[in-house]
Amino acid sequence: DPRLVPVTAAPLSRPAFDPRVVKQDFPIFQNNPDVVFLDSAASAQKPQVVIDAVSKFYEQDYANVHRGVYGLSQRATDKYEAARETVRRFLNAKSAKEIVFVRGATEAINLVAQTWGLAMLKAGDEVIVTELEHHSNIVPWQMLRDRIGIKLVVAPIDATGGLDMAAFEERLSSRTKLVAVTHVANALGSVVPVEAIVEKAHKVGAKVLIDGCQAAPRMPLDVQAIGCDFYVFSGHKTYGPSGIGVLWGRYELLEAMPPWQGGGDMILQVTFEHTDFNEVPHKFEAGTPDITGTHGLAVALDYMEALGRDRILEHEERLTEYGADALARIPGVTLLGAGQRRLAVLSFEVDGIHPHDLATILDKHRVAVRAGHHCAQPLMDRLCVPATTRASFGIYNDESDVDALVAAVKAAKELFG
Ligand code: PLP
Repeated sequence: DPRLVPVTAAPLSRPAFDPRVVKQDFPIFQNNPDVVFLDSAASAQKPQVVIDAVSKFYEQDYANVHRGVYGLSQRATDKYEAARETVRRFLNAKSAKEIVFVRGATEAINLVAQTWGLAMLKAGDEVIVTELEHHSNIVPWQMLRDRIGIKLVVAPIDATGGLDMAAFEERLSSRTKLVAVTHVANALGSVVPVEAIVEKAHKVGAKVLIDGCQAAPRMPLDVQAIGCDFYVFSGHKTYGPSGIGVLWGRYELLEAMPPWQGGGDMILQVTFEHTDFNEVPHKFEAGTPDITGTHGLAVALDYMEALGRDRILEHEERLTEYGADALARIPGVTLLGAGQRRLAVLSFEVDGIHPHDLATILDKHRVAVRAGHHCAQPLMDRLCVPATTRASFGIYNDESDVDALVAAVKAAKELFG
């Protein structure tokens, strides 16, 4: 099956890890031992080290950052800036100054639309998105369109559910100023060939923003090798706290962008007549940030790094393949396409059972999956389905979770006759 072409080609740094051992790091599973958690694409669970890091930070190091000359504030500031360096390493960005802390991917994309977009785009300019996008990579561009008259161009998927690269190329022109594309699609798991997209987009002078929400928890990342201009992700999907996320942008772009929100910390000098703005990245971080969240995020990224991100990718691929295979064997189950490469997400339909009914029955069997449009309504329209049932994986899942899903789907089918 061409959909199961593995993403990983290089040999692993170390032998594969045992997800059952990893699972012991996550107290949610000790507290809910019978739950089969298959919804990590929505939000991942948190390892003990992250939970401890957050509470220890409040107990030992907490004070506001960038303001106090006293030791505690210095220490909190050092941890805050150290987290920026951890994120830089995680993305292999050139400089920690290119890392902007935001609330999540949604906020990061809105920030780019409302600063870079407002300042750099004009009526008639085109922004290309794809049919695979989450609402958070559609709506901010629509809002910008309605404000300044840019054109939103949609690159379609092909019959297999992957991005149609030929159709994407046809839509590229000198009018294209930005391509905003997901790295891994949250509703289907399709892996998008972002390197090829960047190469083609740059040829026409367009910038590329990548929504890395589903890729960041699952694969090694190198924004310099990808060659993109902006990369965004959310901490809560990378085993970190919710409420913290990352915008990475090329330094020159961030430097040229106007600030977004105004307030404390993003300024150098304020009079009633005029404000001098702080340097990048502080220019984009108005007000007291999620100080503790950044520290928790850094610990989560370090935790992933310690496990080995190549091993995480290999784990998720193996489980995805196992799951796709097992679901495809159940009569009446249709897996929705993911193109050439599918990662960590299995979106499916069962004949005669509405996804919400199915998810409710699965829950009775303690299998936690998501049913709905997955914040990708245009994609659901394109696939001619109102909703799907989606199982997604994390580092603590193993084959027994897939087996439980399969058993529960079979039980639901029996119930519905
Ligand atoms: N993009 C993708 C691909 C996602 O999966 C999600 C979350 O589901 C988002 C964007 C939005 O992320 P957040 O709600 O953390 O801002």
